[in-house]
Amino acid sequence: MSKAYIVCRDVRKRFGEHEVLKGVSTEFQTGQVTVIIGASGSGKSTLLRAIIRLEPHDSGSITIDGVEVSDDQRTLQKQRSEVGMVFQQFNLFGHMSVLDNVTLAPRRIRRTPRTAANEQAMVLLKRVGMQDHAHKYPWQLSGGQQQRVAIARALAMQPKVMLFDEPTSALDPEMVQEVLDVMRELARGGMTMIVVTHEMGFAREVADRVMFFDQGCIAHDAPPAEFFANPANERIRAFIGRVG
Ligand code: ADP
Ligand code: MG
Repeated sequence: MSKAYIVCRDVRKRFGEHEVLKGVSTEFQTGQVTVIIGASGSGKSTLLRAIIRLEPHDSGSITIDGVEVSDDQRTLQKQRSEVGMVFQQFNLFGHMSVLDNVTLAPRRIRRTPRTAANEQAMVLLKRVGMQDHAHKYPWQLSGGQQQRVAIARALAMQPKVMLFDEPTSALDPEMVQEVLDVMRELARGGMTMIVVTHEMGFAREVADRVMFFDQGCIAHDAPPAEFFANPANERIRAFIGRVG
């Protein structure tokens, strides 16, 4: 049985005069892979950031597993451990080895002993094909390798949902596929995922649902077969034509 894990109700956010989220209402079900597409500036990142409160929304509500996202720090810490996020820029800690990047949060936040954290990290690094690079530093890795480590690092907190904000947009083209392959495997394993991406092949193959953002609103939301076969309007058709 799927259930609504993240629920957004009339979420609004403005930066000064500019209303960036204009009343977003939607639900993300457990086990569902949602791909969000839409023009630059349409509010995609702001929505993901609002879900983990990197960007507090002005009104409306966001709940994770039935609990309101707010400034309550104890709740927020728990929610952030349940929702992993991977950014366009990998944001690894440059002065730490791959292994330490992956074990940091479990050791600091979960108080996992180092030996156990290392063991768990090696399992995750294997899963993303990076087990042979555990003792390297980020600067010794390609962009694709760094992004795979960033995914392993997010998984180390055993999140229930993974948010991806254009995870392949900063990569050289030859590295895009290795990151998408890791994401595809995660989806296959049943992970709940919300993915902002321009990779239309990934959306077609992996998504349960494709959502089109337009100027702070969800303009369309449909299963990929329907979404791509029959674009709901000219703006969507034009967008798919440009990126896909
Ligand atoms: P997308 O991810 O779809 O490209 P964003 O959510 O990043 O869009 O941004 C939506 C709009 O909000 C853009 O016009 C952007 O310039 C603006 N914006 C985003 N973050 C900030 C911020 N911290 N301060 C001011 N404006 C912002
Ligand atoms: Mg963005």
